[in-house]
Amino acid sequence: MTRKILVLPGDGIGPEITAQAVRVLEACQALGLDVEVEQSLVGGSSYDVHGVPLSEETLAKAKAADAILLGAVGGPKWDTIEDLSKRPEKGLLGLRKELGLFGNLRPAILYPQLAEASTLKPEVVSGLDIMIVRELTGGIYFGQPRGIEERDGQRVGFNTYVYSESEIERIGRVAFEMAQKRNKKLCSVDKANVLEVTILWREVMERLAPEYPDVELSHMYVDNAAMQLVRAPKQFDVVVTGNMFGDILSDAAAMLTGSIGMLPSASLNERGQGMYEPCHGSAPDIAGQNVANPLATILSVAMMLRYSLDEAALAERIEAAVGKVLDEGLRTADIASSGTRQVSTTEMGDAVLAALQ
Ligand code: NAD
Repeated sequence: MTRKILVLPGDGIGPEITAQAVRVLEACQALGLDVEVEQSLVGGSSYDVHGVPLSEETLAKAKAADAILLGAVGGPKWDTIEDLSKRPEKGLLGLRKELGLFGNLRPAILYPQLAEASTLKPEVVSGLDIMIVRELTGGIYFGQPRGIEERDGQRVGFNTYVYSESEIERIGRVAFEMAQKRNKKLCSVDKANVLEVTILWREVMERLAPEYPDVELSHMYVDNAAMQLVRAPKQFDVVVTGNMFGDILSDAAAMLTGSIGMLPSASLNERGQGMYEPCHGSAPDIAGQNVANPLATILSVAMMLRYSLDEAALAERIEAAVGKVLDEGLRTADIASSGTRQVSTTEMGDAVLAALQ
């Protein structure tokens, strides 16, 4: 059956990097992948045409797609839009909410060829391969009540950190299943010494554990996890945590690898439908210059093949092609070092395509 992929290039470097990823998708089609690829607008580019960052048309196409490939949204051009609901980022949040994308998978992989790019010592990070599973649609970012109000003569700001058992269970299952496919180690990160909501989080993870007897479950407080991530990151395999802790820890893990331009991500819903995107933003400082690194977006295509289209062999082929290009010493500016050959966005795309054939 032909599967549908919706490509949303977005803003800034988004169109440049997704163009290279689409070439890789087309190469996969030539290798037998049966997909139909369609494009639409999101973010600032949608606002410019439709007056909103997420049009009904794009949303309908997204709902009908098996998987979505997103570039990035946002940029200074739209930072002055007064109505916050029309800012580019709302397009992204709208897609996550409307599609129920509750499970965010953020791998932090350091290719041995790039060990020098990390700010940590090569022996601490070389060969790093962590998967952070972050809950994306609940927790303190969405909890009610929230606001800023006057109390006893001064303003008070407040948010609510809330998770239901079913929300914890569904992200827990994603993480246990991920650990089963990897090195069978799952670390659940919480703050159960202080926050009741994470006492419940820990209880639910413990309750699920007997259903996955091959997975070794451990627990860690978030402050210790932050410390361990920079002290000895290779101790982790899969990490599962809530929305806010995951937001912070996954950015720290991304920086361990030295280049945000290399990291893909996936956001999945209960039907296995997913949105795939690089971890970085729209990089307005380098947009339109053909210098951005397209590898995070190309690796997002590999994740899409693995997690939404059940095409693990093709995913591995793309990942191997990226490894080969790095072995050949080709680097975009963000990962360039002495002894390597600096290439443009399109040249990097050419090289991955050549390595794929
Ligand atoms: P950013 O990730 O866009 O850029 C940070 C730095 O990394 C910049 O110096 C940039 O040039 C560099 N960089 C990022 N991606 C790169 C790539 N592929 N190749 C080479 N260098 C790369 O983060 P920012 O500057 O904080 O945000 C810029 C805009 O992106 C803002 O409008 C922000 O809201 C938006 N943003 C969007 C997303 C998203 O769409 N998911 C995520 C984060 C930020």
